[in-house]
Amino acid sequence: MTVSAAAPRVRPGLDLAAIRADFPILARRVHGKRLVFLDSAASAQKPRAVIDAEREVYETEYANVHRGVYWLSERATASYEAAREKVRRLLNAREGREIVFVRGATEAINLVAQTFGRAFLAPGDEVLITEVEHHANIVPWQMLRDEKGIVLKVAPVDDEGDLDLDAFRSLIGPRTRLISVAHVANALGTVLPVEAIVGLARERGIPVLLDGCQAVQHQPIDVQALDCDFYVFSGHKLYGPSGVGALYGKAEWLEKMPPWQGGGDMIRSVTFDKTEYNELPWKFEAGTPNIAGVIALGAAVDYVQSVGYDAIASHETELLGYAVRELSKINSLRFIGRPRRRSGVISLALEGVHPHDIATILDREAICVRAGHHCAQPTMTRFGVPATVRASFGLYNGHDDVDALVAGLRKVQEVFGL
Ligand code: PMP
Repeated sequence: MTVSAAAPRVRPGLDLAAIRADFPILARRVHGKRLVFLDSAASAQKPRAVIDAEREVYETEYANVHRGVYWLSERATASYEAAREKVRRLLNAREGREIVFVRGATEAINLVAQTFGRAFLAPGDEVLITEVEHHANIVPWQMLRDEKGIVLKVAPVDDEGDLDLDAFRSLIGPRTRLISVAHVANALGTVLPVEAIVGLARERGIPVLLDGCQAVQHQPIDVQALDCDFYVFSGHKLYGPSGVGALYGKAEWLEKMPPWQGGGDMIRSVTFDKTEYNELPWKFEAGTPNIAGVIALGAAVDYVQSVGYDAIASHETELLGYAVRELSKINSLRFIGRPRRRSGVISLALEGVHPHDIATILDREAICVRAGHHCAQPTMTRFGVPATVRASFGLYNGHDDVDALVAGLRKVQEVFGL
């Protein structure tokens, strides 16, 4: 098949007009206006290369993987496994067998909680997270707490939304068995000091899981340089399809961890007396996977790499700086969190206006922002708000989007007489 339709194109710098032309949905008008999409942290839009890759799987080489001896199944299997190699390279994992395809970051963290957690955690053992985690990195550990009596420790952030590293250090104790933290916090945009966190963990021999859901679309990831034990992300935030993501795990851990779900593909042999499990990574991929989704995720990886992380990061950093500067000019606007290192996300409030009202008025201007708790209710509690308005940025956003947001917020002020 021609997944090569998604083959990298070399582009020096970031040509915003060309990028936007790659995303068909951005040409769509909403309420008769240009679409201003500022909700990529919830889910990013898809370039044509990804849409085409998924469609082409179904049109040209769809069959179940790892099962058939016929040509079509072998082709589908080859493309599926080629996508694994693309993700391996994206994360710079040592081996392809360290990449497990899952439904997304949520499933990846649950997999670790249920397998690593069941096998290696005993009552009284501690898992250390931070105050700014997504629910996906809180609830699985609470479930394990209820099941196994583990202890969940939570490291605080300061008023800017930055991790209090001294407090974090002091929460690491002799019973700490796993540290599980966001690489970038989804409600505030804080880039957590993951190098320092892994450093502290290494000194004490504690494994680390990094939730890269809000990182992998903005910056290059090197799991070997980071030296984390697990890294998880969702394809749909990386301009890929929803319903597919990846868990990276060091082979030495994945080898030792028991399988999670049982079923087809994860076995080598089954009798009613005994089942032998498959080798990595298939031991963790029970059942028919999201075949076309995985292959299209490979196309998303190709796409991001063809644009280049240098170009993406410099474009987005400049854009975030511009957005913070312009938004600062709006009186009655309050930033929720002003982290030292920020990536992709700005959370804000307008005094006296409910975030949902703000988002509704912005919608009339075809501006898509997220209003709510962003699946991070403890973060909201920390900042004393029920919800925020969150503008989040992708590689297709530009100054015009920021200007539209600022104008939209001024309109909100007018409506509420602020
Ligand atoms: N972690 C973080 C930091 C996130 O931003 C998200 C998605 N908002 C998740 C985990 C969960 O991702 P998914 O819903 O794709 O499984």
